Amino acid sequence: MSAPTTTQIPGFRGEVIVPGHHDYDDARAIWNGAVDRRPRLIARCSGTADVAAAVRFARDRDLEIAVRGGGHNVAGTAVCDGGIVIDLSAMRAVSVDPVEGTALVQGGALWGDVDRETQAYRLATTGGIVSHTGVGGVSLGGGIGWLMRKHGLTADNLVQAEVVTAEGDIVRASASDHPDLFWALRGGGGNFGVVSSFRFALHPVGPTVTAGPVFWAAEDTTDVLRFYREFISEAPDELGTVIRLGTIPPLPVVDEDLHFRPAIAVASCYAGPVDDGERALRTLRQFGAPLVDLVGPTLYVDHQRGIDDTVPHGWHYYWKGTNLTVLSDAVIDVVAEHAYGATSPRSYAAIFHMGGAVARAPRGATAYAGRDVDHTMSIDAVWLPGQDDTVRAPETAWARAFFDALQPHRAGVYVNFLDADDDTSRVREAYDDETYRRLAEVKANYDPENVFHNNKNIQPGTPAR
Ligand SMILES: Cc1cc2nc3c(=O)[nH]c(=O)nc-3n(C[C@H](O)[C@H](O)[C@H](O)COP(=O)(O)OP(=O)(O)OC[C@H]3O[C@@H](n4cnc5c(N)ncnc54)[C@H](O)[C@@H]3O)c2cc1C
Repeated sequence: MSAPTTTQIPGFRGEVIVPGHHDYDDARAIWNGAVDRRPRLIARCSGTADVAAAVRFARDRDLEIAVRGGGHNVAGTAVCDGGIVIDLSAMRAVSVDPVEGTALVQGGALWGDVDRETQAYRLATTGGIVSHTGVGGVSLGGGIGWLMRKHGLTADNLVQAEVVTAEGDIVRASASDHPDLFWALRGGGGNFGVVSSFRFALHPVGPTVTAGPVFWAAEDTTDVLRFYREFISEAPDELGTVIRLGTIPPLPVVDEDLHFRPAIAVASCYAGPVDDGERALRTLRQFGAPLVDLVGPTLYVDHQRGIDDTVPHGWHYYWKGTNLTVLSDAVIDVVAEHAYGATSPRSYAAIFHMGGAVARAPRGATAYAGRDVDHTMSIDAVWLPGQDDTVRAPETAWARAFFDALQPHRAGVYVNFLDADDDTSRVREAYDDETYRRLAEVKANYDPENVFHNNKNIQPGTPAR
């Protein structure tokens, strides 16, 4: 690899950040503070033309490329050692067309940006459940969130993407334009180019929704999960729920004597009228003896950022992800046995309820392959900077042991929950055979030299053209 002789990128109008620049350390830091990589330069793009210029510059010099959307992937693929980061963090504009019911979103936007602008029109699309997560990575991997059972995955709501290809060309992908690329972008991750903007379909949501978590003591986990299994079997599409197993976060709305107490929570959001939501959640809230019940009418935009502070930038994270076909008694037993074995009070596991519109979408219509499972799960080890020598080892061991115990019950994985030590066999696990074959074909057509490989990589296969 030849080194760039200049930091001047021809045709580039954004900011170029190199080692020694006052912003270099901030610019190379990502959400997962455990990732510490030193790129040769960071090309902070101001628009699509900059992205194209940066790709061509990197190709001409054979530079390793990483693409940074929101910088929120646990595996840290947004930043590389020694190469160039194509940094979209200054490209966060969101423009809503309320007549057409769509939003045009730049490739570096965060979900908080999208929610704020779309909720100004009482509209929303399915997005991640933490507002500082990036639109880019979430959408390209699939995109799960509170609204998915009613309105589909984020990727199901994508109507057009503007993509800078490995050649530095700018193409539009939609159902009618580059349909093969459009198919692959909806679940295949960042393998096919840099998406400089997304256009999403929007739906009426809120502004007030019935939402919030209910917490029960950890000892009640088996009973709560068995009840929850029955509860969600009748849940309307409007109701999105996520189980959280760990401790009660030290939120200002929670009594201090409950902070960090081991607990199971069912967090919820009802994407429909507030009264209907209260009715839909009544039996859940009445079950057993909750320690805390925070369900109530809340602004959707506030609910979307409600847990932001429980997973801040800079802490150290390690994840193991898996899909689960059903919450069988055997799965519940494993969960109850392992969920509270972490050393750090900040570690947790989250289990998302899928189904609804996600499961009804035609198989093969997009590259997202996990439509037949009831749940996707992430086991999240969390420790503080400075605890690498003490807490890191037991936390990662806890996550791996929990994951290993689920082995007989696992059914694929959500590609966006894979961590750095999940190798290509686990990427393969995210897709069925036919989906992976098609992805490899599209990869061969758009990126035959695998220029975009700092991601959950699809190996180029046999080109179709
Ligand atoms: C705290 C937390 C909460 C989460 N919650 C959810 C959730 O509710 N739902 C959900 O679906 N996922 C969730 N995730 C997982 C999330 O989908 C991934 O972490 C995702 O990769 C984040 O996208 P990003 O753009 O912020 O990340 P980045 O690290 O910037 O990007 C990850 C990879 O995606 C690709 N990429 C990103 N943007 C672009 C682009 N514009 N063009 C081309 N390639 C791009 C690149 O290959 C990059 O390496 C969560 C993650 C975290 C850490």
